[in-house]
Amino acid sequence: MEKVVIIGSGPAGWTAALYAARAQLAPLVLMGRQPGGLLTTTSIVENFPGFPEGMDGYELMTRMQKQAERFGAKTSFGILDSADFSRRPFALVVDGEPLTAQTVIIATGASHKHLGVPGEHELENKGTTYCATCDGALPGFRNQPLVVVGGGDSACEEAMYLTRFGSEIFLIHRRDSLRASKIMAERTLAHPKIKPVWDSVVTEVLDVKQDKVTGVKLKNLKTGAETVLACAGVFIAIGHVPNTELFKGQITTDENGFIVPQLGTTTNVPGVFVAGDCADHVYRQAITAAGTGCAAAIDAERFLAAQNV
Ligand code: NAP
Repeated sequence: MEKVVIIGSGPAGWTAALYAARAQLAPLVLMGRQPGGLLTTTSIVENFPGFPEGMDGYELMTRMQKQAERFGAKTSFGILDSADFSRRPFALVVDGEPLTAQTVIIATGASHKHLGVPGEHELENKGTTYCATCDGALPGFRNQPLVVVGGGDSACEEAMYLTRFGSEIFLIHRRDSLRASKIMAERTLAHPKIKPVWDSVVTEVLDVKQDKVTGVKLKNLKTGAETVLACAGVFIAIGHVPNTELFKGQITTDENGFIVPQLGTTTNVPGVFVAGDCADHVYRQAITAAGTGCAAAIDAERFLAAQNV
């Protein structure tokens, strides 16, 4: 039986593992479908404190893993099939094999919603990105026209952030008004560099043949008109999907599936804790995920101590 099983291997998961390992709980980390999490898809991370020159996302996650393993964290490439939190120890099934755990830390993160149009996937990290904070300052985007897709707070935030780098920012939204909070929407639309393109959807990211983003094909949903807009980058900000489907019905979530922590990192099930983006639709940064990972490990340690485990 494991004392602590950590589901997920992003910054939240590895930080939880580091703290739990140093508390001599020998945590088991289930790495999941995307070992290292979303950050491994980012080329350079410039906003994680301690790396003034920036750090490759994959390298940062590898270092976090090594640091946790150095203190006794165990790693499994296993993928969680199911979790039964109805009684303790919790009964998990990983790659078809049963596993029991005294405590569980859910750190499964969130996935970016994708447009699902031609060129989007092929040009990921070649001009298509899902994170302006991560990628906006890259040289290829400087003084170039950029496209942001979406009409919520995230899209507004991305567009505002990109005004520091791009020559002009086209905000493509499928309706004629923003979903974002009023203050955010007003600030965004008032910015001289931001140009809204209403009632429009991206139907293709160009140009796969050139192996880089050169523009987007747009369709106006009201007139049906199709146009091409030249740009060097496409920032897709149409929301996130928390990876919490497996826990549905057992762990309390909001209407969008984000886990709702009760106090600190505790969930509605005693002994199950949560950390990182699967419970965060506001900050969604590597450093905030790492912070809650630390807190979850401390909460799990105290829970076990109170049970005399
Ligand atoms: P969101 O509010 O769900 O907005 C997603 C936007 O993307 C909507 O405008 C939606 O259009 C559009 N969209 C969704 N699917 C699309 C598709 N397939 N093609 C084209 N457009 C699509 O998501 P979010 O902006 O990530 O915000 C999520 C939550 O986090 C919100 O509660 C938000 O307030 C919060 N948040 C807060 C802050 C802040 O306070 N600083 C920052 C970021 C996020 P429709 O409008 O037509 O549905």
